[in-house]
Amino acid sequence: MNPSKNDVDRVLSIFGLNIPEGRNLISSPVDGMDIGGFNSAGLPDVADIAQRSQSAFAQWRIIPAPRRGELVRRFGEALRSRKTELGLLVTLDCGKPLSEGLGEVQEMIDICDFAVGLSRQLHGLTIASERPGHRMSETWHPLGPVAIITAFNFPVAVWAWNAALALVCGNSVVWKPSEKTPLTALAVQALFDRVARDFGPDAPRDLAQLVLGDATTGAALVDDPRMALISATGSTAMGRTVGQAAAKRFARSLLELGGNNATIVAPSADMELALTGCAFGFMGTTGQRCTSLRRLLVHRSVFDSFVPRIISAAARLPIGDPRDPANLAGPLIDGAAYAAMRDALADARALGATIHGGERIAGPGQGVYVRPAVVEMPAQTGPMLRETFAPIVYCLRYDELDEAIALNNAAAQGLSSSIFTNDLREAEAFVAAAGSDCGIANVNIGTSGAEIGGAFGGEKETGGGRESGSDSWRAYMRRQTSTVNYSRALPLAQGVRFEL
Ligand code: NAD
Repeated sequence: MNPSKNDVDRVLSIFGLNIPEGRNLISSPVDGMDIGGFNSAGLPDVADIAQRSQSAFAQWRIIPAPRRGELVRRFGEALRSRKTELGLLVTLDCGKPLSEGLGEVQEMIDICDFAVGLSRQLHGLTIASERPGHRMSETWHPLGPVAIITAFNFPVAVWAWNAALALVCGNSVVWKPSEKTPLTALAVQALFDRVARDFGPDAPRDLAQLVLGDATTGAALVDDPRMALISATGSTAMGRTVGQAAAKRFARSLLELGGNNATIVAPSADMELALTGCAFGFMGTTGQRCTSLRRLLVHRSVFDSFVPRIISAAARLPIGDPRDPANLAGPLIDGAAYAAMRDALADARALGATIHGGERIAGPGQGVYVRPAVVEMPAQTGPMLRETFAPIVYCLRYDELDEAIALNNAAAQGLSSSIFTNDLREAEAFVAAAGSDCGIANVNIGTSGAEIGGAFGGEKETGGGRESGSDSWRAYMRRQTSTVNYSRALPLAQGVRFEL
């Protein structure tokens, strides 16, 4: 047995599971070795799952919300007790360093806590009616079965963001994880099943289900008329297809798509903070975060002192087996990701860029390990304007803040952005109406590493969805406006007369 398979076998057994078998191979990016397999669900399987999800919804929506919160609380407790094992499985499944694997499970726990509180705060409004003896109110009701389609790079946290909120909001959920990371999904599902079983009859069967498969399976779920909300996280190309398919049948969609995130380093910046923020931003998680830093806009007066420090940080980064805590970066997810990285660097070179790093380096087994690339660009063009899911940062000089903000906003995506500055005017201008056009705009923090308390998501080709904190819960509920007439007359609004 190879080392990663050994670990997977051991961890899965803690969740009461064996290594799955099937036609679609599962390999660990840690060493690129095959671990097992799974079979993709077809249309009849998806239809059956959707039917069962609808039945579960009919029962769950009438359970009081605080009681629904109690189930999520217990699930959060179960996650706490299995954080170490699940964190390691995240590392084995998608290759991120162990501290990030554990961090991802912590994010699941945090969103459970958040959702438990929310379960007593799903409140609506009372609105002044213009008619005498009338009361107008707004109530939020459960929406229906929620399809959750997730990407490989956050194989469990994104499901938890959606599921914890959807469940307290009174919905059932169906999860279609990335075909590249089915192992963590199997473990999380097993944990949830146990908690739901112990909860008793208030938690209906099939409240949360898992369906394994690729894009075809995902598309079948999106097209199923029983799925009331499609929450899809992944590439903009995926979101374009999914968003249109959902819109065709007027289903609600929540899209969390690609990013092409920029950081501005101003002359007044605290350069130590900027260095750490930018280094983690582009190299952390091997550049495989939707919020990873991809474009570094540095003021001309500090470019020649700052960028060499970024180049040196990339050259020194400890890269290797993500199970070893000494390593701060693990592998790319697969060979295709490295091919895309090579293509992007070749395109940059053809445009006259100067490239530092970017080569493949040795790592365990067949794992795809790379040195991060720092690319000095002559202009913001070519690969700098597309998302390549790899550790590449394109660097450019700017002269005026307005110019830097315009460069920040010139990307097709609008997910995350940040500025390092100690100039209050610059900081406020960046987060003001004419500043960054992204869903996330940070000051003296990098582009990646969001907390669950805020609404997460972005504009333009990032899809416009918001998940996690703030009032994101509303996406999982339907709004009902009710006007109750307690008078003995029936006046019409706007003074309209209709007397028979
Ligand atoms: P991907 O688009 O290849 O796949 C994502 C998921 O969509 C997978 O489960 C896949 O099977 C499914 N899918 C693909 N085509 C589909 C279709 N036509 N119908 C239904 N389902 C379909 O993305 P990936 O490579 O797994 O992840 C990387 C991408 O995800 C990057 O673009 C990254 O920026 C983005 N991402 C965004 C966020 C966010 O919150 N904005 C978070 C994580 C990742």
